[in-house]
Amino acid sequence: MKIHEYQARDILSQAGVPVPPAVTIDNADDAARVFKDVTKDMGQKKLAVVKAQVHAGGRGKAGFVKLVKTPEEATEAARFMLSNKMVSVQTGPEGLEVTKLLMAAGVDIAHEYYLAITTDRKTRRHVLIASSEGGVEIEKVAEENPDAIVRERLHPLLGLQPYQARKVAFALGFKGKLVNQAVKTMMALAKVFLEKDCSIAEINPLIVTPPSDAHPDGELLAIDAKFNFDDNALFRHKDLQGMFDPTEENPSELRAQRMGLSYIALDGNIGCLVNGAGLAMATMDTIALEGGTPANFLDVGGSASEEAVTEAFRIILDDKAVKGVLVNIFGGIMDCAVIAQGIVNAATEIGFEVPLVVRLEGTNVEAGRKILEDASGKLTTLQAAKDLGDAAKKVAAAVA
Ligand code: GDP
Ligand code: MG
Repeated sequence: MKIHEYQARDILSQAGVPVPPAVTIDNADDAARVFKDVTKDMGQKKLAVVKAQVHAGGRGKAGFVKLVKTPEEATEAARFMLSNKMVSVQTGPEGLEVTKLLMAAGVDIAHEYYLAITTDRKTRRHVLIASSEGGVEIEKVAEENPDAIVRERLHPLLGLQPYQARKVAFALGFKGKLVNQAVKTMMALAKVFLEKDCSIAEINPLIVTPPSDAHPDGELLAIDAKFNFDDNALFRHKDLQGMFDPTEENPSELRAQRMGLSYIALDGNIGCLVNGAGLAMATMDTIALEGGTPANFLDVGGSASEEAVTEAFRIILDDKAVKGVLVNIFGGIMDCAVIAQGIVNAATEIGFEVPLVVRLEGTNVEAGRKILEDASGKLTTLQAAKDLGDAAKKVAAAVA
């Protein structure tokens, strides 16, 4: 599960990481008032930053993180972000609608750092990743200058140790009072990562302000954060469950989830309904082998009800990109008759206008075939396939 930056900032702040004060708004008319509010202690030189709250990064480069110096500029930036879709390297060309903004007190930046904890599958450890070249293009740093990225593995039981955090702080070039601030920040991030069952906890950038009277070494602040959580652990985090924002999710994937189906939207044109993740993968590979491209990955599992199967077909047929449907069922626990009835229900309700190729094998297959035969009047685009290879060939040819 993903959360928004404003929620991530709250979590960091509660963990003791210094974060500039900020307020969320969803209406540009509130921007001027909130600007005055977050900059009230700044004297003459006021600075705030308006930031789109969407589950995608690359906002800065897309123009959806804007520094503003007056209430008028704040209003204009807010109006722009709330009325334009954000297209960034992480959104795809269709972009994302923005309905919520964060207005944060702006800070002067002397240097930007990167700090994250995630799981390294290769070493089967959590790993702290840090760089003194943080900011908006950490992926590019990783590619072009991998030496600028420091990695420190976490002990599975002991977690991040203070000596490791100090080592990383020195490697990043922190000096004076900042060393301890950096160590504290890393320890806090590691604590949050473990306690909240994160899959990633990232601060980018972690910044140092220019030296001032109050902070002669500069001050360390987290000004952007991203947390993802392990869905399988959410049951033990009531507070996190409340942070879920369904408007940021693919609506078809949510519908499928409610029915206990595993559905993932892809960008091809062949809708696939399969039972079992392994079979779904093999089906997608075989489609690709025949020159087709899957529009989705839909696994109805072993014990889906007729209702769930019907909903699965509704979801597939709702996708306007779908030009053909392949049903590949190898019924072990799954009853082929349930699948067949789901097909007929969907045909009755919505109608299969696109080619439909069905390969059924296994439990109760005869009954399943009979149901399809009896409904042949409604299933005019149906072709039966004798095996997976045959099915993939037929559906790829039908959409070509
Ligand atoms: P992202 O592009 O989605 O990762 O959004 P960020 O919140 O990380 O902002 C992108 C960049 O905008 C940062 O790396 C900073 O360079 C800049 N930025 C964000 N907030 C401030 C701020 O308060 N002051 C200044 N000077 N720059 C900021
Ligand atoms: Mg960032």
